[in-house]
Amino acid sequence: MFSGLKEEANRIMLECRMFVCPDCRSGLAEDAGPSIRCECGREYPRLPSRGLDFLPGRKLRDFEIDPSDAGQRAHLEEEAAGVSWRVDRLILPLVVRYCSALGLDPGSIRLLDCGCGGGASIDALRSRGFRAVGIDAGRSRQEQWRERSFGEHLHSANALELPFAGRTFDAVISSGLIEHIGIQEAETGRYAARRLPDCQPQRLRFIRELARVLTADGFILLDHPNGRFPVDFWHGGRAGSFRWHGLQGDMLPTFREIALYFRLSDPALRLWSLSPAQRLRFNQVRHHWYGRLFAPVMKAWLSLLGTGPLSPLARSFLNPYLVTIASRARNAADWIPP
Ligand SMILES: [Zn+2]
Repeated sequence: MFSGLKEEANRIMLECRMFVCPDCRSGLAEDAGPSIRCECGREYPRLPSRGLDFLPGRKLRDFEIDPSDAGQRAHLEEEAAGVSWRVDRLILPLVVRYCSALGLDPGSIRLLDCGCGGGASIDALRSRGFRAVGIDAGRSRQEQWRERSFGEHLHSANALELPFAGRTFDAVISSGLIEHIGIQEAETGRYAARRLPDCQPQRLRFIRELARVLTADGFILLDHPNGRFPVDFWHGGRAGSFRWHGLQGDMLPTFREIALYFRLSDPALRLWSLSPAQRLRFNQVRHHWYGRLFAPVMKAWLSLLGTGPLSPLARSFLNPYLVTIASRARNAADWIPP
């Protein structure tokens, strides 16, 4: 009973001090003012969308929003549709199973989408009653945030220096972000990227941050294209096109690589690999003849990957897209879907 009270007291304390200064890690008391000042002297202003700017003057250059560019508009709409598919098919069912196994009220848990892009996931989760928060470091993303209903929960921050107190989030989600950490990208015509010499230390720092802000029984949901699958359908340059890559040294992480980061971050985290069947929509690739030919076969194969004897293959070279759950919860096997 006392441990329950203690947990509740911790929760209330965390509620008050969810934010920390990414620079000195002191707790920040949030108020409705135009900025928050840390005792170390740093000041974090509010964005036009009302969230906090933990990267004042140092956003990442992502892309230029051009309202006259119909191709870009279509691409961003496609992206938002993909997000709502991912929320409905993968994230929500998982959160519901998690809450019911741990006896938690779904409205009481806190979720973080790390690298939330345009913020559509936060709108989708908030409108269903979840306390979801998103961060992204991209400059143009904040333009998109102005159009969101829950913009005050979208914060500009670096995923390697999260502005949150330890053990704040029951669910930490990061989709398609890790492969962009520690690389240099050149997008002149064909997409090309190479790993920087400190790629692995940067990615380890990222996973350490995800593990730090996770509650004792919470879960991390990490997904990205598989470095051991020779075709990358997600970084082909144009929407729906693809890229062949070598199996050594490519930008894409393998399961082995991320398992190492998790082990070094916290040996108590155990990992599960899911089939990406609920993650992928195969929508962009359908614009191409090979996509129309290939998508139904791939879909059937991915559904098989998630079942019984074939489930170990979900982390092998036979799976184009890795979906990993990490948790310290003792009963995780009860609520993680097969
Ligand atoms: Zn500070």
